[in-house]
Amino acid sequence: MRLRLPEERPASPPVGFKLAHPVISHDGKRAGFAGVSLGGALPYGFVDEARCVYGRRHRCPALRCDCGFYCLHTFDQALALACASEYRRAVLLEVTVLGAYIRFERGMRYERQRVRVARVGACACGRMPSGFADAGWGRTGWRVLTAVCAECADRRGRTAFAPWAAVNFAEFVRCGGGPLRIVAGGEPEAGEADAKGEAVTEVRSVPELAAEASLMQARLDWLQRQLARFAGGGKVS
Ligand SMILES: [Zn+2]
Ligand SMILES: [Zn+2]
Repeated sequence: MRLRLPEERPASPPVGFKLAHPVISHDGKRAGFAGVSLGGALPYGFVDEARCVYGRRHRCPALRCDCGFYCLHTFDQALALACASEYRRAVLLEVTVLGAYIRFERGMRYERQRVRVARVGACACGRMPSGFADAGWGRTGWRVLTAVCAECADRRGRTAFAPWAAVNFAEFVRCGGGPLRIVAGGEPEAGEADAKGEAVTEVRSVPELAAEASLMQARLDWLQRQLARFAGGGKVS
């Protein structure tokens, strides 16, 4: 008898929460995240497909393997995990779960994901961070990053050994191919942070800005037509 898991067909892709370390490639051109446990050796992009960590040629999440992306169901579960000493400098990601997934009591193991929001804690000095700097460790080909404020980023700049010492959030999002929302300051609820109006750093990607520009262009065209009509009307009367 073949055991089958119950199938789900959700109307919209499930959302999940997880911890990760922001990373940048050795040449500073590509940005992404590295998992904090099993998949840490295989950094992933903002939109990516899981590969088997054991190098097996099957699609994740394979039933007889433990490969694939992992996430927790709730923000609180991820926040609780972030209390552990080894995860204090990790960022908390909100992801959209795409493709096949296996649901567990506390989370999911799945095939593909889009990272939508990255919540970043304060700079080590306590100030609001505005970018990422080399955390001092990494994986082959990737430097792990840590959130820093502008002042600390400047200080690192003067003692830089790498081609870059720090990237601001906008640059990180650009290197990762965006869009990604980075919420700085580490406060849990986006709503709360939004209400205070200061804890949220909105980083908009090039595609988002392009979309906004074309929307503005459309509005300008409309305004131009209205003005032309009034001008035309003026002539008639
Ligand atoms: Zn596998
Ligand atoms: Zn600082």
